Amino acid sequence: MLKHSSIKWLRLKEILKEIIGKEVDLHGSTSLLGDEVASVDSNGDVHIAINLSKVKGIEDIIEVVAHEAAHAVLGVEKHSEAFWTTKRGLEKDITKKYFKEE
Ligand SMILES: [Zn+2]
Repeated sequence: MLKHSSIKWLRLKEILKEIIGKEVDLHGSTSLLGDEVASVDSNGDVHIAINLSKVKGIEDIIEVVAHEAAHAVLGVEKHSEAFWTTKRGLEKDITKKYFKEE
């Protein structure tokens, strides 16, 4: 398998745990409804479900987990201006940590 094609799920999970400050579990699903790309359930631990039929590569995955992490961090469902600012910040943070050399 080509090196660039493998996704470091556990690294991503650890980064999210660090950022959100809670246990995080990532779930891949082929049965999320409609256009849903990912969803978050954060009663206690955070569970992020990723729609495997919508995301194609690591950039997509980081974008959707940053989106869901922003919901978890802010504790809101709506997409306000503050939400998008937080989401962009988290996306940058996750990208930097994910691609950092070991
Ligand atoms: Zn959202």
